[in-house]
Amino acid sequence: MSKSFQQIKDELSKKNVELVAVSKTKSDEDILRIYQQGQRLFGENYAKELQGKATRLPKDIQWHFIGHLQRKQVKYIIDSVALIQSVDRVDLLQEINKRAGKIDRVIPVLLQLHIAQEEHKNGFSEQDLIEFLNSNTFKDLKHIEYHGMMGMATFTNDEEQLIKEFDYCHQQFQKIKATYFQDNAHFNYLSMGMSGDYELAIAHGANMVRIGSLIFGKR
Ligand SMILES: *Cc1c(COP(=O)(O)O)cnc(C)c1O
Repeated sequence: MSKSFQQIKDELSKKNVELVAVSKTKSDEDILRIYQQGQRLFGENYAKELQGKATRLPKDIQWHFIGHLQRKQVKYIIDSVALIQSVDRVDLLQEINKRAGKIDRVIPVLLQLHIAQEEHKNGFSEQDLIEFLNSNTFKDLKHIEYHGMMGMATFTNDEEQLIKEFDYCHQQFQKIKATYFQDNAHFNYLSMGMSGDYELAIAHGANMVRIGSLIFGKR
């Protein structure tokens, strides 16, 4: 392992980039070790795992949900999640809105855009996203607060391909922010980049990165 947690943290804070420490499958002890070095923002992929960790671990941790979320799992995270990054379809937004309303919360989310070549990776297509933002459904979701966008690039070492995808996501982010969220003080985050490509993602517009294995070691 080439970089320490402290080095990664310092590097990102100098660039004003938010670090989400991706702790999926990692133990409470592993998380506490990073917590004790000042980290408060952690990302989880599995709803029940997030729920369990949020119950056991310090209350000042902000939990981001970053994995594929099924509607029936929303209830597990609705109390404890600080931000849902992986919002990729309208029926999911409606479920989050409904559950949030019941407990009188407003849930911050990022809109996930499909940018990878892999079909199985999730996210709105550009067209579906614009259709949603022009719909009445968008106006009706009072318990959702939009904090920006998220993208997951193709799993590849091909830099040119990654740059293409990051640039595309960045362009869409700027366009959508200017068109639909001009008066929204929250719509600021572009979450792209993981352990292998976060530097490239930052160079191409990311201001939030999700780093797992580089911090915690291999899963
Ligand atoms: C696991 C995961 C990450 C972190 O991946 P690493 O390569 O371990 O840094 C980032 N984003 C999402 C959506 C993930 O599922």
